[in-house]
Amino acid sequence: MKDDTRIVNAGRHPELYGGAVNPPIVRASTVLSKTIGEWEAKAKERAKDVPGMYYGRHGTPTARSLEEAIAELEGGHRAFVYPSGLAACVTALLSFVKQGDHVLLTDSVYAPVRRLAGSFLKRFGVTSTFFDPCIGSGIAALIQPNTKVVYVESPGSHTFEVQDIPAIAAEAHKAGATVIMDNTWATPLYYRPLDHGVDISVQAATKYIVGHSDAMLGIVTATKEAYPALKATTHELGQIAGPDDIYLAQRGLRTMHVRLERHWATGVKLASWIREQPEVAVVLHPALETDPGHKLWKRDFKGASGLFAFVLHPMEAAVANTLVDSLELYNIGASWGGYESLILPIHPNEGRTATKWPYPGPGFRIHAGLEDPDDLLDDLKQGFAALRRALGK
Ligand SMILES: *Cc1c(COP(=O)(O)O)cnc(C)c1O
Repeated sequence: MKDDTRIVNAGRHPELYGGAVNPPIVRASTVLSKTIGEWEAKAKERAKDVPGMYYGRHGTPTARSLEEAIAELEGGHRAFVYPSGLAACVTALLSFVKQGDHVLLTDSVYAPVRRLAGSFLKRFGVTSTFFDPCIGSGIAALIQPNTKVVYVESPGSHTFEVQDIPAIAAEAHKAGATVIMDNTWATPLYYRPLDHGVDISVQAATKYIVGHSDAMLGIVTATKEAYPALKATTHELGQIAGPDDIYLAQRGLRTMHVRLERHWATGVKLASWIREQPEVAVVLHPALETDPGHKLWKRDFKGASGLFAFVLHPMEAAVANTLVDSLELYNIGASWGGYESLILPIHPNEGRTATKWPYPGPGFRIHAGLEDPDDLLDDLKQGFAALRRALGK
């Protein structure tokens, strides 16, 4: 079965719901039993990899449907849903560390995960080291006897370095460490981390899976070996998402392949034009042949989403901001993966510790939405014209 067929069918069981195409939104805390025997049988179910309904916090048919679909798309054993992408990242990490352990994180990591390492993990006696995203098998030199997790994100969602995941995973596994990957940019359709040696794949489903900027959700998929630790921590931390948000995610999922093709094409169109502008120092987009990560992207990825960045030559921030402020179709906003185009200032220098960001000018991240690509390009053209006026050209 091809991915486009799988994404339409995975996790759906109309025969269970009177033939309805989609799973019902099951709102449940208490799940009733009529006899002690039935109650005890349900309690035993909890040990199963995919248990039946026992208590709302442990999942409902709404959650199971989406978890089954994502696990299938990621090629994993089982998945769990979380109330946000960050909750998914954090639970994945906490599942594999204890006091005295050490974790390695990419220098391009999602900023709140970096903050977790510097505060929460530190408080509980877990140390961390950040590494150059382009390190590849050189990661071996950073692995300590107590390194338990290598956390990767490819490409980084502000700076877009593509990582050599198979090389990193091979070294991590030699040392017995678990590899966790934030796979939000590519989605399971354009990258399958578990096929490249990763043990745990994390999705901020808030982005492309929900796809409409109207719900927060995270999903983690594990291999069979990594699953028991993830399951234990997920339940110990009381992680579950609300049924309405899960429903919106499973609804968004069914059209994600069609949306992504458009995000990808429009992103490449805009990035290619931006690259030609004299005010631009660099465009950060792995699908462009000029990008340093292009070779790895071509080797490992099946496509590109609509998120990329560019950096201008050094100039006053106030001047650079005229470009953004004059745009009509791109609003400024955190998050991405919805149908609407966005632009956001980026400040890679402020977080990084392992590597020095080489571009001194002001940078911006674009999310190419589903508007007409020519309208989006025309808007950028008038934005750059406004920038030139501000520069006095
Ligand atoms: C947005 C994002 C997250 C966190 O997702 P939320 O749903 O906003 O908590 C994690 N990783 C990446 C790469 C993201 O872009």
